[in-house]
Amino acid sequence: MTSPDNSWRSSLLSYLTSEGSPGRESILQLLSSPGHPQDHAALHLDACQPWSRGGAGHFTGFLEILFLAPERILREADEVAAEACGKVHREVRGDPRYSPKEWVHVRISLLPNVPIFRRPTLPRSEDVGLLVEIRGTVVKTALPRTLEKAKTMRCSRCGTEFLASADYAQFYRLSRPSSCPGSSGCPGTYFSVVSRAGEKNNLELCADFQEIKVQEQVSKVNVPQTRMKLRVVLIVCSSLEIA
Ligand SMILES: [Zn+2]
Repeated sequence: MTSPDNSWRSSLLSYLTSEGSPGRESILQLLSSPGHPQDHAALHLDACQPWSRGGAGHFTGFLEILFLAPERILREADEVAAEACGKVHREVRGDPRYSPKEWVHVRISLLPNVPIFRRPTLPRSEDVGLLVEIRGTVVKTALPRTLEKAKTMRCSRCGTEFLASADYAQFYRLSRPSSCPGSSGCPGTYFSVVSRAGEKNNLELCADFQEIKVQEQVSKVNVPQTRMKLRVVLIVCSSLEIA
C-alpha cells in the first residue's frame, strides 16, 4: 500500500502513463528518440502544460512535493520515470518507432510564473536547496568530459569496501576518508581502488559533464555593468542539450 508521503509516486506514474496525458506524450517522445537503452535520457516535463491542457490532476501532487524537497524528489522521480518508460514501452511493443530507455532523468521546465520560482536574476546563496528557473545567456562553455562520480575502494588492512565520491568543491578529486569506514574500529589508513568507474557494471559511477558560464540577461537588470555570471555544471549526457 502506498504511504501518504509516497502517494506522489503513483500520481506521477499515472500522469506519465495515462492515455491522453501530456506526460505520456513526453514518454512516447523519449521512447522514439535515438540512442541505446542504457544511455542517459532526459524526460522533459513542462510544469505549466498540464494546467493549460486540462490534465493537472495527477501532476499536482508531484509538483507540490517537488517544490518542498526538490533534490530528493527529482532523484526519486527518475525511478518513477524509468518505470513509466517500461510500462508504456510494453504497451507499444512491436512498434519500430519506439525503443526502451532505462536510465531516465526527469527535467522540469517552465515553472509557474511567480517570483519564487522564476527569477529575473541569477540565484544567490539563500536559494540553495530551492527549485528555481533562471534565464540567461551562455557566455562560455568548456569541453564536455567524463566525470568519475565515485570509485569503489578497499581498506588494505581489514578489506572493507566503500564508495569514495568525487568532491565538486575540490575540482572532482576523490574524497578519501581519513580513517577506515569499517564498523570494527579498524585503524587502517591506506585504501586502494577496487574497480575503476567506466568498467562494465560500473557505468552508474560515471557521468558526462560540462561546465558553462551563464550571464544574466541585459533586459532583466537595471544597470548592465552589474550583470552577474554564474558557473554552471551540467551533469549527464542529456543535460548537454544546450543552445
Ligand atoms: Zn579497515
